[in-house]
Amino acid sequence: MAEKIQFTRNYSDLSTDKGYQFEFYCDRCGTGFRTRFKASVLGAVSTALDTVGGILGGIFGRAADVGEKARSVAWEKAHDEAFVEAMEELRPDFVQCPRCSSWVCRKSCWNQKKGLCKECAPDLGVEMAAAQASRTVEEVWAHSKVAEEDREMLQEKSWREGVRATCPKCEAPLSGKVKFCPECGARIQEKAHCTQCGAALDPKAKFCPECGASRKT
Ligand SMILES: [Zn+2]
Ligand SMILES: [Zn+2]
Ligand SMILES: [Zn+2]
Ligand SMILES: [Zn+2]
Repeated sequence: MAEKIQFTRNYSDLSTDKGYQFEFYCDRCGTGFRTRFKASVLGAVSTALDTVGGILGGIFGRAADVGEKARSVAWEKAHDEAFVEAMEELRPDFVQCPRCSSWVCRKSCWNQKKGLCKECAPDLGVEMAAAQASRTVEEVWAHSKVAEEDREMLQEKSWREGVRATCPKCEAPLSGKVKFCPECGARIQEKAHCTQCGAALDPKAKFCPECGASRKT
């Protein structure tokens, strides 16, 4: 049965009494792909029989043995089926190379363009792509550096020009200490501060929102 189906050279049988699981390894890189654990119904039945046998002692002791034997045959059968299922489950992750007939993982050992495994058709583009990738990273770094310098310059600029950088009405940029907006003529109010605690005050506020001091204009 197992001979009929061709698949990876190496695999691990992780099956236990409780269920079936297999791990297949890529013929080229050896990466393991594990199947879902398939619980064995038979194993559970056997455990139940064992428990009954344990409680009732010698009387039903033989029942457990029978269960054990029946399971062994049935287990083997289910195990074979599970093995075939496991191969079917993992087959999409593997490709068989038509040249060397190795089963390799699709993820890292298959040259899609050439239709051969990377052992037979080494991916020469990989080196170039890697070089390109690292250059891209450097470029990104350079860009972020420039951006940072820009940010610092902008910060310093806005700091020099003070908080009132734009007209509160039309948002036109204001330079220096102007009393009226050069664009819309709106009166630019000096930012008020509480004389008691120094907190910023709304121009219309009569009392400081921080300390409650009456505002003196
Ligand atoms: Zn591989
Ligand atoms: Zn090959
Ligand atoms: Zn304005
Ligand atoms: Zn205050």
